[in-house]
Amino acid sequence: MTAELQDNLTLIEQSAKDFAETHIRPYVMEWDESQHFPIDMLHKMGEYGFLGVLVPENYGGAGLGYQEYISIIVEIGKVCGSIGLSVAAHNSLCTNHIQSFGDESQKQKYLPKLATGEWIGAWGLTEPNTGSDAGRMKCVAVQDGDYFVLNGTKNFITHGKSGHVAVVIARTGEPLDSHGMTAFVVERGTPGFSGGKKENKLGMRASETAEMVFDNCRLHKSQVLGAVGDGFIQSLKVLDGGRISIAAVSLAIAKGAYEAAVKYAQEREQFGKAISNFQGISFKLADMATKIEAAELLTRQAAFLKNQGLKCTKESAMAKYYASEVSVQVATDAVQIFGGYGYTKDFPVEKYYRDSKLCTIGEGTSEIQKVVIARDILR
Ligand SMILES: Cc1cc2nc3c(=O)[nH]c(=O)nc-3n(C[C@H](O)[C@H](O)[C@H](O)COP(=O)(O)OP(=O)(O)OC[C@H]3O[C@@H](n4cnc5c(N)ncnc54)[C@H](O)[C@@H]3O)c2cc1C
Repeated sequence: MTAELQDNLTLIEQSAKDFAETHIRPYVMEWDESQHFPIDMLHKMGEYGFLGVLVPENYGGAGLGYQEYISIIVEIGKVCGSIGLSVAAHNSLCTNHIQSFGDESQKQKYLPKLATGEWIGAWGLTEPNTGSDAGRMKCVAVQDGDYFVLNGTKNFITHGKSGHVAVVIARTGEPLDSHGMTAFVVERGTPGFSGGKKENKLGMRASETAEMVFDNCRLHKSQVLGAVGDGFIQSLKVLDGGRISIAAVSLAIAKGAYEAAVKYAQEREQFGKAISNFQGISFKLADMATKIEAAELLTRQAAFLKNQGLKCTKESAMAKYYASEVSVQVATDAVQIFGGYGYTKDFPVEKYYRDSKLCTIGEGTSEIQKVVIARDILR
């Protein structure tokens, strides 16, 4: 990493940290308990550039790279994993899909609104019966003259109800044909497009997760992103970047839990001394610190390749797989270090514990990351 990039990262980290302390920290447990999605706060984040991190400046974005993006997600996600997840889904799924595959008029129309946070984005690939096996999706788009008619349901979609604009991938060909799916951009308010059930979740409760329902929704052919039939291939490329962002959310949660555990272990006394003096606790902290550093190195390596425009499918899957598993392990150990207090809502570690689990599931489970890695190394 160059000195210039390091200085830049330090400045960006400070700005994200300040924002999180002022606009997120005071409300974290209230939003979590009531499962409130703080969309007004997200709009505010846009004013700070956190919703258009990777978007070029000529489209109203911050024009930064993946290293800065990781730093922003880490500082925000350390304070609230849910908001880290929403920032990740908005930037690297919806916005990045339009940025990477939209034509010039689609970019002009959507990127400035998304990058400034005026509009919040969603991205729909998953369906009730097809998660890991997205190639068998049932949501169909049938061409009718200059229009496509969409029918079907997407579920578990971040901002599925409140998103102002969504990228949706639907079947336009045969099941399991990797060229049989097409990506569309669709605005909220389009007849036939509505938000469905909002999930009541274990963690990440302030990040809205909901269905998107399409009922004879007519989309003009100008709403196709890229070529008809390219939607699935595009999605896999979008997920390469998306997995770096979930690795960053994982790191955020792990770092937040670790920092809380270090502080507590030095303050909490049992048997006449701070519990950090017990090797059973200090070795746990040493393991946590080591795993976090290894996870960060994998994540930064994937980001480096992505910034260079190089293929990073294996590296982003490794980063996501490792960092998410580390996140769960570190959050679990942090609860253990807090003892009974770790099991209460008076301390932050129970929330890290609940939030961390999503990281091993969203944007491809750990098992699917291993499928991706194995396919690459066994070619
Ligand atoms: C909070 C949240 C937010 C999300 N946001 C979005 C979003 O914005 N957009 C979107 O499109 N999706 C989103 N998702 C969906 C998410 O990507 C899927 O849940 C995930 O891909 C897993 O799919 P599934 O839930 O259908 O599980 P399944 O695919 O049914 O998997 C069930 C189990 O089987 C295992 N399994 C499946 N296939 C294999 C295999 N070949 N080998 C070994 N094991 C296998 C899995 O690893 C898992 O353990 C979100 C999910 C959550 C919970």
